[in-house]
Amino acid sequence: ESAINRIAAGEVVERPASVVKELVENALDAGARRVTVEYADGGKTLIRVTDDGCGIAPGDLPLALSRHATSKIDGSDLLNINTFGFRGEALPSLGAVGRLTITSRAKGAEGAEITVNGGRTEPVRPAALNGGTVVTLRDLFFATPARLKFLRTDRAEAQAIADVIKRLAMAEPFVRFVLRDVSGEGDGREVFRTEAEQGDLFSALHGRLGRVLGRDFAENSLPIDANRDGLHLTGFAALPTYSRGSAVAQYLFVNGRPVRDKLLVGALRGAYFDFLSRDRHPAAALFLDCEPTLVDVNVHPAKSEVRFRDPGMARGLIVSALRHALAEAGH
Ligand code: ADP
Ligand code: MG
Repeated sequence: ESAINRIAAGEVVERPASVVKELVENALDAGARRVTVEYADGGKTLIRVTDDGCGIAPGDLPLALSRHATSKIDGSDLLNINTFGFRGEALPSLGAVGRLTITSRAKGAEGAEITVNGGRTEPVRPAALNGGTVVTLRDLFFATPARLKFLRTDRAEAQAIADVIKRLAMAEPFVRFVLRDVSGEGDGREVFRTEAEQGDLFSALHGRLGRVLGRDFAENSLPIDANRDGLHLTGFAALPTYSRGSAVAQYLFVNGRPVRDKLLVGALRGAYFDFLSRDRHPAAALFLDCEPTLVDVNVHPAKSEVRFRDPGMARGLIVSALRHALAEAGH
């Protein structure tokens, strides 16, 4: 079992940022409204995610650590995936590549804690906690020094963590996110913070994008809101004048998950084809939502690529919605 976990870990856990992604997605799956992420030394020595979600009952803690025991799909429809996590692989994998402790308290239950050390699970013990869950991963890859060598500098790994948090924060405007670097002495330096946005989803999203991407983006972008054939596209796309020399400011989400997908990036480019030269890239934050059966997000364990039942439909919606918005704005 622990060898299998180590192999699976290679798929799920590439670097501290992928750990953070899995843990924060779990927190969001648990209905958290406040998520705090702390790390030390670029996440290499410490990653801790604290949430105020539903928590895990003491009796369920060992289950959370056993492979596939908790998978949120029941096997009846592999494509019908509504939550971030669906493979039941992240926590067992993390237990195999570092020193993992989960402290949690579900409503109406006592607080409890479980630790896995390099694949060895210790018995559940009582722990004090008001509610929610704290997951701590220390010494990532301590048992596999070869993997440690592939990590980049603390600074680069910290940058990747911040990038993951910002993408998730864009997708969840009603959730408060705090990111703190707790390396060395002291209480830790706050790297990023964004309070829960207010109002309806659209204005909350606009506010959140302004806070994450900057007010310039919020003020120079067009609202997008279009439906077609069961696909729903929302978000903001920048005016052609607010383009960039690289594609770094393109944020795409499918059913709430951050993705990097060639098809979607190509559609974005296609929409601006008449307005931008080849070396300019539109900034955009776009959210494509559809029935889970219309899209397969299980292409890669890191879940950043997607496969649409009908790729032409997704592309068509993006291109037409953006062109329409640009035309309305006088382009
Ligand atoms: P998956 O997310 O694919 O189900 P994980 O290994 O990431 O698998 O998590 C295993 C299970 O542990 C989850 O299904 C969930 O029941 C529980 N869990 C993990 N993190 C949290 C959390 N922050 N709050 C509540 N439950 C959690
Ligand atoms: Mg998960």
